[in-house]
Amino acid sequence: MSDFSLILERLAATGKAESEHLTTLLSARGEHFAQLCAKAQEVRMRSVGSWVYLRGLIEMSNLCRKNCLYCGIRAANSSVTRYVLDAESILSAVTFAADNGFGSIALQAGERVGEVYTRRVTDLLQRISSSIKPQLGITLSLGEQPESVLREWKNSGATRYLLRIETSDPKLYRMLHPDNDLHSFSSRLDTLSNLRNLGYIVGTGVMIGLPGQSIEMLAQDLLWLQRQEVDMVGMGPYIPHMDTPLWHKRHEIPRAEERLRLSIAMVACLRLLMPTINIAATTALQVMQSDGRELAIRAGANVIMPNITPECRQNDYALYSHKPLAQENLLDALPHLQRQISLCGCEVQLHTPGDPLHFLNR
Ligand code: SAH
Ligand code: SF4
Repeated sequence: MSDFSLILERLAATGKAESEHLTTLLSARGEHFAQLCAKAQEVRMRSVGSWVYLRGLIEMSNLCRKNCLYCGIRAANSSVTRYVLDAESILSAVTFAADNGFGSIALQAGERVGEVYTRRVTDLLQRISSSIKPQLGITLSLGEQPESVLREWKNSGATRYLLRIETSDPKLYRMLHPDNDLHSFSSRLDTLSNLRNLGYIVGTGVMIGLPGQSIEMLAQDLLWLQRQEVDMVGMGPYIPHMDTPLWHKRHEIPRAEERLRLSIAMVACLRLLMPTINIAATTALQVMQSDGRELAIRAGANVIMPNITPECRQNDYALYSHKPLAQENLLDALPHLQRQISLCGCEVQLHTPGDPLHFLNR
């Protein structure tokens, strides 16, 4: 057996790997890359099965108080048309999700804080929980919030929270964010630990192919995710946006094909390290290649997040360039998506929240 196969077999059997072994796997190309994906898929089938869960993504607002250097809706980008969806539009998107068998929804937005804002989200959560039957899994992705706010939202019906660490390397994190208290690595970590203590199903993730990011750092990201014992992970390629400060470093990052390859390899390695978590096939993968999400499904991902934001607003929520718009008629797109997923040997599981086994086993 080759060294590569030995490393892969050992990881699949034990769920453990040294950092240098992960860098070997993350560097896989050609036949080795295919072997890595196939092994991840094998582990996925025996740990969480062939199901793929749908999570309807609603981009509630692009207002943000932060200035992450990579993000297209950062506060300082004056070319963005800012919007806030009203409660009725959000509720009708949620109803669409429930009526079409989505097991969960994710409410995402730029980061805002304050009593009025907190109350507004609380009211919305209460309306969703009381009016939508059967119960949907409700995921929030609203950035860093004080513990009291996270508790209030949990008590109002939110069950899951997504907060990406972006990179587990504090020095790289500093390079990607303004150097001030609003963008502190340690407060991001503190929020993740508060979420865990409050009983949320916790999701995080990283961007892949960032300027200044090495393959060793990505291996460390994987080990960090494993140590954190998170329940859900969403990770995908970094995609430069021309109205951001990081745009000028776009020549320093790997080419699109390489960012895609690396992202799929990250998904596969993560499935081997954490067999029972939920892993999303993120939309950013689809920007790199039209079937990018399907490649992730074939490498162990088990969640897909169709965008169900009202179409007129999807253009204004451009975190990165070339974001795909959801098809005009999502109802027509769903059977297509189901077919694509079945071609990957998997099956969309409707009408079930799809809580991660990792959380249920905790
Ligand atoms: N404001 C919240 C949620 C919205 S941003 C937050 O920051 O947590 C959601 C995610 O989009 C971020 O965590 C980041 O990982 C991703 N993102 C932002 N800009 C990106 C870019 N240029 N390329 C790829 N992903 C990006
Ligand atoms: Fe705001 Fe999130 Fe973008 Fe940072 S990544 S600028 S917090 S929307």
